[in-house]
Amino acid sequence: MTDKHQELLKLLKDQKEFFGDVLFEEFNIENSSLIQSIQNNLTKDPSASYTTKSDHEEVSSEYKSLIEFEESIHNCKKCKLGSSRNKFVFGAGNPNADVMIIGEAPGADEDKQGKPFVGRAGKLLTDILKAINFERDEVYIANILKCRPPNNRNPLPEEMNECTPYLFEQIEMIKPKAILCLGLVAASYLINDKLSLTKMRGNVYEIKGIKIMVTYHPAALLRNPNWKRGCWNDVQQFRTLYDSLKGEN
Ligand code: URA
Repeated sequence: MTDKHQELLKLLKDQKEFFGDVLFEEFNIENSSLIQSIQNNLTKDPSASYTTKSDHEEVSSEYKSLIEFEESIHNCKKCKLGSSRNKFVFGAGNPNADVMIIGEAPGADEDKQGKPFVGRAGKLLTDILKAINFERDEVYIANILKCRPPNNRNPLPEEMNECTPYLFEQIEMIKPKAILCLGLVAASYLINDKLSLTKMRGNVYEIKGIKIMVTYHPAALLRNPNWKRGCWNDVQQFRTLYDSLKGEN
């Protein structure tokens, strides 16, 4: 089998992992165009066009480990969600991860188990990660909020403002090279409140030296499977970005 055949076979297997039996024809066998688009984006200096709330908060870690940090905050009652939650969902994964995945807030399954992305959307996230050759325990997964909002409503601005210093501390401790934001809530809080997800997708942002890309939230993909194609493109670009960052070492 030629290299091209092997590459094609791998792409088909990855796609099957992600999309099931739906076959999309428009995938890119030549990764070079993806790399080109990432490089174009990287030279855009997006920091000139946005500010981030995290830039206003200088956090220096006083904790020796994520476990110690979790122990110090897991009884948090800074907002009302502290009283309605079942479990505090700190985050999970490799404490030395190069990649962080950031979602919105725990749902019912996460609230029960105290772990992020363990329900249906979480299963899809695992498949998406697998399709771009990341194991779940290789990355670190967290959310904008640590506690479930009642009936899965959107996080309120005051809840995000109270809770995200915890996330920023985690980012500071883990020091990922790249972050993938899932959905508009995470993307707009971390990057820019004014842009739509569509406008942000495909761009590479940078906050304190960490590259950030965005894609659809897996729960949105479960509701709108047509968006999986766009997500597939996004995550392939994210993988290419990650590989190019690893290559810089
Ligand atoms: N949706 C999220 O945004 N985060 C989770 O942990 C689960 C579902």
